[in-house]
Amino acid sequence: MKTHLSDRINSLPTSQTLAMAAKARELRQQGKDIIGLSLGEPDFNTPDFIKDAAIQAINDNYNSYTPVDGYGELKEAICRKFKRDNQLDYKPSQIVVSTGAKQSIANVAMALLNPGDEVILPAPYWVSYSAIATLAEAKYVEIPTTIDQDFKITPEQLEAAITPKTKMIFFNSPNNPCGSVYSEEEFRALAKVLEKYPDIYILSDEIYEHINYGKGNFSFAAIESMYDRTITVNGVAKAFAMTGWRIGYIGAPEWIAKACTKMQGQITSGANCIAQRATITAVDAPVSKIQYMVDEFKERRDMVLSLLGEIEGFKLNVPDGAFYVFPDISSFFGKTLKGTTINNASDFAMFLLEEANVATVTGDAFGNPDCIRISYAASEDELKEAIARIKNVVS
Ligand code: GLU
Repeated sequence: MKTHLSDRINSLPTSQTLAMAAKARELRQQGKDIIGLSLGEPDFNTPDFIKDAAIQAINDNYNSYTPVDGYGELKEAICRKFKRDNQLDYKPSQIVVSTGAKQSIANVAMALLNPGDEVILPAPYWVSYSAIATLAEAKYVEIPTTIDQDFKITPEQLEAAITPKTKMIFFNSPNNPCGSVYSEEEFRALAKVLEKYPDIYILSDEIYEHINYGKGNFSFAAIESMYDRTITVNGVAKAFAMTGWRIGYIGAPEWIAKACTKMQGQITSGANCIAQRATITAVDAPVSKIQYMVDEFKERRDMVLSLLGEIEGFKLNVPDGAFYVFPDISSFFGKTLKGTTINNASDFAMFLLEEANVATVTGDAFGNPDCIRISYAASEDELKEAIARIKNVVS
């Protein structure tokens, strides 16, 4: 059938994380015993104290439109959170609450990018960064890294990627898909380079800040010279097991916050009222209340690293945060496994899905063609079974 879709939507890639999750769901419906390790989604329930706040909000008749940039009480709670966890001073006028961190990022991109601007993406990067930059008609410029450098860019690499057209750089620490965490020292070294280029803006996506196994999170905006041009993105999805509640937020210079509010005033009118009320309780809670999930993720990480480490051909780093491992599986390229020739990471991910019934995501989607992403936000039993199946089909 003839369609009349716009060039914009035709050139937009489908989100590979969501597509792989949909494929796994579809195969399961067909009766296949698929283990889904493709989606980054905590398998915990939302904590009761947050659910109670949502129920209370329903009973208190929170049903009307909220202010476009979020309830005042929520923005105040977010300011307290930024101060407590990140040593960042934001005023409520610098906060915008959105329908997930993904929308927060899209708002910022739409507000700041002009056609032809360049956005630097240290690779690997989360799938939607490149797509959102493209939607904003900007060009994304990847800085490649390898597992041997723990997937972190160096100041020299950053300097080499900057051109007169560079408008933004996206940082994401802890990183999706590789789990790497930049230390304060590493971030300060990158900031030294950026100090020479006052017109470059920094988007610091800190959605995994609490899923952190020891190094601690350092917020880029805490570097004094960077504060006025950094947009700090966060949300409750990952740390509070609230992916479906769809609440993200930014702390940003006021003029950027205002532009994002204008943007979402035309697109969504604001985030869901009940989820916003529940988020007040979530962000006000001491981090100790969610530590049990972080501890569990750490145990799973250690188990997954040890089990995958037994499989020949899987090269691993030790991720310090998030809930993904991102093994380099390029040693399989050119080999034939069970009659299938593996030419690239997509072939490998597809092979695992078809032969092992394990859903992962190809590294290509994250700007790294040598790796696959495995989410360990799944039960210990599922992880053990999945890795045993992988071992079986690649050995
Ligand atoms: N952020 C998660 C992931 O990377 C959820 C899916 C998505 O929004 O990409 O798997």
